[in-house]
Amino acid sequence: MSKIKDTSKLCVHTITTKPWGLEEALDNYCKNGVAGISVWQNAIDKMGAKKAGKLIKSYPIEVVSYVRGGFFPATSKKKRQQAIDHNKQLLEEAAAINAPLLVLVVGSSPEQSLEKSRKQIQEGIESILPFAQSVGVKLAIEPLHPMYAHSRSAVNTLKQANDMAESINEEFVGAVIDVYHVWWEEGLKKEIARCGKNGNLFAYHICDFKAPLEDFLNDRGLMGEGCIDLKSIRKWVEKAGFKGFHEVEIFSHRYWEMNQHQFLNKIIKSYKEFS
Ligand code: ZN
Repeated sequence: MSKIKDTSKLCVHTITTKPWGLEEALDNYCKNGVAGISVWQNAIDKMGAKKAGKLIKSYPIEVVSYVRGGFFPATSKKKRQQAIDHNKQLLEEAAAINAPLLVLVVGSSPEQSLEKSRKQIQEGIESILPFAQSVGVKLAIEPLHPMYAHSRSAVNTLKQANDMAESINEEFVGAVIDVYHVWWEEGLKKEIARCGKNGNLFAYHICDFKAPLEDFLNDRGLMGEGCIDLKSIRKWVEKAGFKGFHEVEIFSHRYWEMNQHQFLNKIIKSYKEFS
């Protein structure tokens, strides 16, 4: 398998360098040859999507995705409608910053069964789909590790994301493979191949799963720091026909506390060595 030699496929999520504002992130990513940026909503909160879109356009960097929509399930119809409205707003923002993709953390409600939540997720996606098509932004279902099944996502395996994307069967709906969430999945290789074959492999997120993990949410590791077989997964993803960016998404109190310039250097080094 080819070794990663440069940063031409490297994308960094703004949440990874959370202490930096959008402009600072853009400056430093570009200075260091990072070729793509995925923009988290909090990064454009203050200036708004229009202004953020203009700012990003002035840099030689590609917008890979806008993160994140979703959270469709709720026991009340009113809340489900609110989620749909909110997602439409996010799609408008994604379009304003020229993001081709909205990542969906699809949600889950502990007050109902996972099956019911999944049904509401699919209904939610189907109801925002025409709007997504009208603004030209695709929708990517990101399966989340089962430790979040009660709260953040009732879609916990790539198999489930594949099932849902295939059931919706629209060019604008696909899946995200985030190694943190699916590295453990039985049959992952097969599901990645299936995802690519059906044209549903929209994005690829990388980091590492530390052992032990001190915080389920905010203790993600840098590539090479944990137990994920990143090189094999990349091989499967590439074999499945994926030619997009490798997006570094690391939530980490540990790394947010350190000097972000040094952190970005570490990211690039570990990306080349371990991804
Ligand atoms: Zn992710």
